[in-house]
Amino acid sequence: MTATTSYEPVIGLEVHVQLSTRTKIFCGCPNGFGAPPNTNVCPVCLGLPGALPVLNRQVVELAIRAGLALNCRIRPVSRLARKNYFYPDLPRGYQISQYDEPLAEHGWVDIRVNGKARRIGVTRVHLEDDAGKSLHEGFHDSDRYTYVDLNRSGAPLIEIVSEPDLRSSEEAYAYLTELKQILQYVEVSTCDMEKGHLRCDANVSVRLRGEEKLGTKAEVKNLNSFRFLKMALDYEIARQTDLIEKGGKVTQETRLYDPDSGETVGMRSKEHAHDYRYFPDPDLAPLVVSEEWRERVRAGMPELPAVKRARFTGEFGLREYDAEVLTQSRALSEYFEETARVCGDPRSAANWVMGDLAGALKAAGKEIEESPVTAVHLGELLTLVVKGEISGKLAKEVFARMFESGEAPAAIVEREGLKQISDRSALEKVVDEVLAANPRQVEQYRGGKSTVLGFFVGQVMKATRGQANPAAVNEILKSRLG
Ligand code: ADP
Ligand code: ZN
Ligand code: MG
Repeated sequence: MTATTSYEPVIGLEVHVQLSTRTKIFCGCPNGFGAPPNTNVCPVCLGLPGALPVLNRQVVELAIRAGLALNCRIRPVSRLARKNYFYPDLPRGYQISQYDEPLAEHGWVDIRVNGKARRIGVTRVHLEDDAGKSLHEGFHDSDRYTYVDLNRSGAPLIEIVSEPDLRSSEEAYAYLTELKQILQYVEVSTCDMEKGHLRCDANVSVRLRGEEKLGTKAEVKNLNSFRFLKMALDYEIARQTDLIEKGGKVTQETRLYDPDSGETVGMRSKEHAHDYRYFPDPDLAPLVVSEEWRERVRAGMPELPAVKRARFTGEFGLREYDAEVLTQSRALSEYFEETARVCGDPRSAANWVMGDLAGALKAAGKEIEESPVTAVHLGELLTLVVKGEISGKLAKEVFARMFESGEAPAAIVEREGLKQISDRSALEKVVDEVLAANPRQVEQYRGGKSTVLGFFVGQVMKATRGQANPAAVNEILKSRLG
């Protein structure tokens, strides 16, 4: 396909997120994953005639959280609406969603790609229920069956629709990454893509650079990883560009990404909103969110990743990159902060958390939440280094033992007699012994070969099993030899 720079991609994402509530959106059935088929169901989520939905308060609360975290305006009154369509795993014949009066709108997400900051508009965040799942089994016509599992029917979702503000697959990737991080921070969802807790559809069009009008878009579905999203977008951008350059026209349609071929394939022409015959659900009262409720939710929100990153660079003097790594998850950022607080040295806390600790966790296949070394213990270890009680080199050994045993650093240092020797007279004694034992090197040093100093330091370290304070040793050596 032709590579060209005269065309510009335009992308908008529609992201579905499953909320981390205990129960479903309109009934008391468990909102779980992995239960045997059709066991978490009741008349409401089975869509039996006459069963009445009751909106789950926790669902609304998490959706408000998401809206606020994405800088949206929360509507004082929003409405649940029926979106009518037929599907075997949608027994009611309609989805309960929100249409022209969504819970939240007019928000944004800030992203940064290749050093360039961009603000991506969030059109709306609305509530809806999930459908069940169809399971296809068998390969031959004679034994091919489709089963329907309705455990997921009525699972609570929010849909987050972006403005068509994204201009490359990299920006789309960065937007989804930031979105996921924010939603995890505020504990709205686990965003576990493998469990389908985060699902993304991408709308793509291309237009000549400088053109104001948007081109005709295609909607790409089945993007169940961040990598697939990027690859599907790159394919689709190239396909549309190529098509237009050859004099063709993009048709508005829904396309499926096929990870095996790396291509998108036309699935059906796109439905329009009027096909769904939306109307307010008469079984559900308008959703009223008082100012008092909204502000209570806001007050209960944790610090968001962007604010945390800014604080880590500003208050702690961390490098941009380090702040980014350390805020990747809330658990990691909290671990780092606790370590920094205990030792009073944020930079070395950052180095240790990103270096030795991250390395050890990775080697052990553990997450930060499962770290055998607690943040307080790591902080205590660094305090011993800061106070000069153990050397940086010994600290690494002590750390390895802490990681194995989960013990406090002081206990290990005490038991193994690893304390750094800073006592002047004790060190002077060792230095004198080393000098006396190496007269030839002393002569070389006095003759102008200053590099021999390193040899003496090494000998003193050897004699003290690495416990001598290197700065003090250097100083004593210089004064003795001077
Ligand atoms: P539809 O009615 O087809 O669902 P919407 O206007 O609701 O379309 O937009 C759905 C998503 O598609 C949004 O994320 C929006 O930003 C994006 N979008 C709309 N028009 C375009 C376009 N021409 N090119 C790329 N994305 C678009
Ligand atoms: Zn139910
Ligand atoms: Mg739409």
